[in-house]
Amino acid sequence: DSGQGDMKNLTADHHLLDGLLTAEFPYGSCRSRYEFSMYHKKSLFHKPSPYLLSKLRKQEELQRRCGPGTAGYKKAMRQLNSSDGAAAAEADDDCRYLVYISLRGLGNRMLAIASSFLYAVLTERALLIDGSKDTADLFCEPFPGTSWLLPRGGRSSALRHLDRYDEGSPVSLGNMLQNGSIVMSADRSNVSWSSPRRPPSHMLLHLAGGYGFNDKLFYCDTVQKLIHDVPWLLMRTDSYLVPGLFLTPIFLGELEAMFPEKEAAFYHLGRYLFHPSNGVWHAVTSYYRSYLAGAGRRVGVQIRVYQKKQPPQQVLDQLLSCIRDEKLLPEAAAETTTASNNGTSDAVLVTSLSSWYHEQLAAEYGGRVAGGVHQPSQEGEQRWGDTAHDMRALSEIYLLSTLDVLVTSGFSTFGYVAQGLAGLRPWVMSRPSPWEEWTEGQAAPEPACQRALSVEPCFHSPSYYDCAAGRDVELDKVTPYIRRCVDVSWGIKLV
Ligand code: GDP
Repeated sequence: DSGQGDMKNLTADHHLLDGLLTAEFPYGSCRSRYEFSMYHKKSLFHKPSPYLLSKLRKQEELQRRCGPGTAGYKKAMRQLNSSDGAAAAEADDDCRYLVYISLRGLGNRMLAIASSFLYAVLTERALLIDGSKDTADLFCEPFPGTSWLLPRGGRSSALRHLDRYDEGSPVSLGNMLQNGSIVMSADRSNVSWSSPRRPPSHMLLHLAGGYGFNDKLFYCDTVQKLIHDVPWLLMRTDSYLVPGLFLTPIFLGELEAMFPEKEAAFYHLGRYLFHPSNGVWHAVTSYYRSYLAGAGRRVGVQIRVYQKKQPPQQVLDQLLSCIRDEKLLPEAAAETTTASNNGTSDAVLVTSLSSWYHEQLAAEYGGRVAGGVHQPSQEGEQRWGDTAHDMRALSEIYLLSTLDVLVTSGFSTFGYVAQGLAGLRPWVMSRPSPWEEWTEGQAAPEPACQRALSVEPCFHSPSYYDCAAGRDVELDKVTPYIRRCVDVSWGIKLV
């Protein structure tokens, strides 16, 4: 199989991912929308639920009705600019917005955008993305007949410098609770605006790693009811919040109806929302055809390194042990018959900022895997605001997502996105601590790798506070489908 498949043999259902995608976009405008299914096997997951599909179509309508340039958008902009600073969405059909503020690397951004989108669907808001970043170079528009990019021109002052918002912003939920603009009763059952007694025109939800107690009250039903009427919510997050939304009682019924299979939440959301631009997609498909299409079985290795100096030896030891222990690659030399018949051979794809792991793995296994050991890029270090760098990163996430087996670095959102899009449970290699580097002679953790409990990304910064109970709880004991992650002990995930 060349991986290209035969267009005519594929049903429209398969192309459009079982109804997840609308057919409203012309093919050439965004090839990945129509070609994704040719490079990705059907997973073991069920089709998206009819309820999820109806919610997606409804959201598309909302995005079209409220998108930039519409009457609804102009009205909401006027509310934002109004001098009294307090103008709630008044009429039922007024447009309300969720603006996602971009933060950190590509994996973080994709998890955060998927989370923002789901929150927008749950709260019937139009999602707009911080358009000053390279989103438009990386992704096609997901909603037909409109744009999800917040226009740069004509922004009110509240939206002009989105990157200046942080935990210190006076308009954040946490600070408004702190400074008395929002008053909450001691038992947290009652919450209201103080003066003026109306919602503000905009507000910041600061939900990034390391956020404080008051910002985490976002996950309380009372707070959700309070902020419902705020026309503009700005969400600053780097995390996969979806498990947190499942822990917010007000959203639970809707979420359970949308995702009867909890473990497929990101799988469906990611496949719905993200479509690499034609430039990125060309890089994905041409690399795939050159190096991976001929292999019978494709193994991906994602090694996240954090510093430029000599990459840790322990991670190589860990990787080699993991491959050996879990029998992920052949230990004997490839038989000539296999080598001459690529169709049934293995190929390995390594992604990492460092070239060293690829070199070592190729030295060890090059002669044994007939399909070869490949690495698309060696960027050396993570770069910021570099579109070409981000495009390569995105193409590698998508290449990883086409494979049959994944070995990933724990704690890395880059790997989470790849496994989520693939619908695969990876073998995860843990770090001794996410913040500390390996020290000389430090032994790699045992076992070298563990199978992730589910396909879902890990939510690294959940709130342990149960608003109704008024105390912290063990999050992995609340419901059977939320568990701790194998790579981050304080993180949780849907299983
Ligand atoms: P995380 O920091 O591991 O959670 O992942 P992020 O994707 O949020 O940030 C890491 C960033 O470093 C990526 O977005 C890329 O820009 C870069 N990067 C890390 N690993 C790789 C890799 O294997 N290949 C490429 N091309 N870039 C990488």
